[in-house]
Amino acid sequence: MGIEIEVEANGRKYNPASNCAVVICLDGCEPEYLDVAISEGLMPNLKRIRSEGTDALAHSVIPSFTNPNNMSIATGRPPAVHGICGNFLFDPETGEEVMMNDVRFLRAPTLFSKYYEGGSRVAVVTAKDKLRALLGDGLKFDENRAICFSSEKADQATKGKNGIQNASEWLGRPVPEVYSADLSEFVLAAGVKILKEWSPNVMYLSTTDYIQHKFAPNQQGAKDFYAMADAYIGELDALGAALVVTADHGMKPKHDVNGEPSVIYVQDLLDDWLGIKKARVILPITDPYVVHHGALGSFATAYLPSEVDANEITSKLSNIDGILLVVNKSEAVKRFDLPPDRIGDIVIISTENMTLGTSIDRHDLAALKEPLRSHGGLTEQEVP
Ligand SMILES: [Zn+2]
Repeated sequence: MGIEIEVEANGRKYNPASNCAVVICLDGCEPEYLDVAISEGLMPNLKRIRSEGTDALAHSVIPSFTNPNNMSIATGRPPAVHGICGNFLFDPETGEEVMMNDVRFLRAPTLFSKYYEGGSRVAVVTAKDKLRALLGDGLKFDENRAICFSSEKADQATKGKNGIQNASEWLGRPVPEVYSADLSEFVLAAGVKILKEWSPNVMYLSTTDYIQHKFAPNQQGAKDFYAMADAYIGELDALGAALVVTADHGMKPKHDVNGEPSVIYVQDLLDDWLGIKKARVILPITDPYVVHHGALGSFATAYLPSEVDANEITSKLSNIDGILLVVNKSEAVKRFDLPPDRIGDIVIISTENMTLGTSIDRHDLAALKEPLRSHGGLTEQEVP
């Protein structure tokens, strides 16, 4: 039973949730993962849904990172509107780097909160806890009409703060390792149980890209993951949900023929050209969970000293092999709909098989067990 009122969020109108609408964000799902898994017969449900429904590719927002895109899915708008343009924010006034996963950085209401206000029952389950607060902004848990928790902290969920008491016990699954496929499987299993037992009108399920950072589409670890996901997609479909399967960004190999990470250390270059620590390079992919990517992605922004001509640095960087695009702030804001107060003086994007680092001594590459795969730029913008 749906709530028959139209919802308006951030200047757009949305249909009433007449049967349960379920959106699955498969983190880091480069379209090739689905193509390979389907062609090998590992995703029969998605194959059928694709042929019966609508199948298209879309562009994620830039930077093609997790939080900006989850928030664009959640708000229906680009980072210029919702404000979340990475995991990190540099405050030039204080010289501090601040995590952007706090709700105070969010500048627009989510569709989830708008559906909730309209009387709908809303469920949000994420793999990593870093997204939970942002996605759950505006939900209230005192009327049994909202559920919002992460698998990472499922055992700490409470009725008052998450709408559910100890989600790990409720689901009958232990809290998975943070670096695991299980962390994502927990999300999908929880989605099926919520749909069966709790009848949400709107549900958002967001996995983690640990597997995609680790395995290419033709590797067994990836195939196992998509076969697993397909079984849950089939269950959700069989329960009558209106399903959307999409991704926050793609994923590309970022290593040389020897399996060593391909990196341009931008802070080292700028130190060389302008003097030590005169410029400040920010990698918005950096977060507390860096084991699978070493904080290396395809997107960087840099704050330059005021006396420096940004256009000169832009053209110098543009000439480096492996750099796809360098633009100044105003161009980046215009082209990618970014919030001008949360990016540096220039934006740098690397090519398909290259990443951008700060200084060579600031990246712990020893933690990388597999050849690097990562995202953040234009070559990882295409999503299902
Ligand atoms: Zn992601």
